[in-house]
Amino acid sequence: MIVDRGRFGGYGGSFVPETLVQPLAELEEAYERLKTDPDFKNIHEELSRTYAGRPTPLYHARSLSKKLGLKMYLKREDLLHGGAHKLNNALGQALTAKMMGKTRLIAETGAGQHGVATAMAGANLGLETMVYMGEVDIRRQEMNVYRMKLMGTEVVPVYTGSRTLKDAINEALRDWTASYEYTHYLLGSIAGPHPYPTMVKDLQSVIGTETRDQILKAEGRLPDSIVACVGGGSNAMGIFSGFFQDEVNLIAVEAGGTGLTCTSKFANHGASLKVGEDGILHGALSKILQDPYGQILESHSLAPGLDYPGVGPELARLVDLGRVRSEVADDEVAMEGFRVLSRLEGIIPALESAHAVGYALQDPESLGDLAIINLSGRGDKDLATVMQREAL
Ligand SMILES: *Cc1c(COP(=O)(O)O)cnc(C)c1O
Repeated sequence: MIVDRGRFGGYGGSFVPETLVQPLAELEEAYERLKTDPDFKNIHEELSRTYAGRPTPLYHARSLSKKLGLKMYLKREDLLHGGAHKLNNALGQALTAKMMGKTRLIAETGAGQHGVATAMAGANLGLETMVYMGEVDIRRQEMNVYRMKLMGTEVVPVYTGSRTLKDAINEALRDWTASYEYTHYLLGSIAGPHPYPTMVKDLQSVIGTETRDQILKAEGRLPDSIVACVGGGSNAMGIFSGFFQDEVNLIAVEAGGTGLTCTSKFANHGASLKVGEDGILHGALSKILQDPYGQILESHSLAPGLDYPGVGPELARLVDLGRVRSEVADDEVAMEGFRVLSRLEGIIPALESAHAVGYALQDPESLGDLAIINLSGRGDKDLATVMQREAL
């Protein structure tokens, strides 16, 4: 079943089984209504401020600026509750679900970060929460599994297929098909069928709205460039959305992994915008990493949140139109970003965000005189990975 809404050029749409058409339409209708509803807006605003910690600061990184030879600001989503931008989306969707009368949330997670954000929102709003996770990922991410359980979320291991994210997504969709009358499926990025890409962008656009006000206040002008890392694309679209009408370079940095090569089953990277081809993944048409027969390749990145073989359809469209520039930073470049930001600013970034920092270090000339990096998350969660790679 294909609908016209939620199309971005040829991308997007809603390629789902007939049974999910109704719940997706209900979700679209409810979110459109609620986002202008005074009750919803009041509760959402208060929770965003007092529970999540909005607005996050825009920080002038003086030492990094000096090294780069330009004026660099960081949008501090790493200071949001939970340590990343993901809660903006999880909280907004969970509140939507609650006000729709749903009593239960389900989600799927790979590295566990979206699972943790969903667990936080579910606990806060008193919703029963269940997170599907591949059995392989559960073993790799025991800290996040424990965090979810602490907050009362049931983590369900998935034993099918490669026992990773894509299998967990299949299970979550199966659950939703049977339970949507009382369950909301809380999707984590600007991917998936309509209305998710539009709704998640809307919930993350607070980053861009705040950043625009903050930079105008600090500098009296808009930046020349904005840099953001891309997994599914939600933190990037969130900050970019404040600047689409302006002459600001928008730069999307994907995971180059260990190199832009593919074997029959694996890609050594997560660069679907850069080298992906048109195909359908998770109910939407977008750029995805696939073999010649349309089978999805397993992606790779040092940063768990960038390890995704697809990308949001609207971002794919913006790259085709030339409005967003697609760039790649590999594992080594990200490690350099991680080290430099820790050392120069006393900020340990998430390995995802370190891709954006690493890109800026590699190519500062391309950023103009005034630039902003969206620091999507903090690096505490990545210390074990980094320690394994290098002793100090
Ligand atoms: C999940 C995650 C990302 C990638 O997701 P997007 O939807 O592309 O934003 C980036 N940074 C951090 C810190 C994350 O947790």
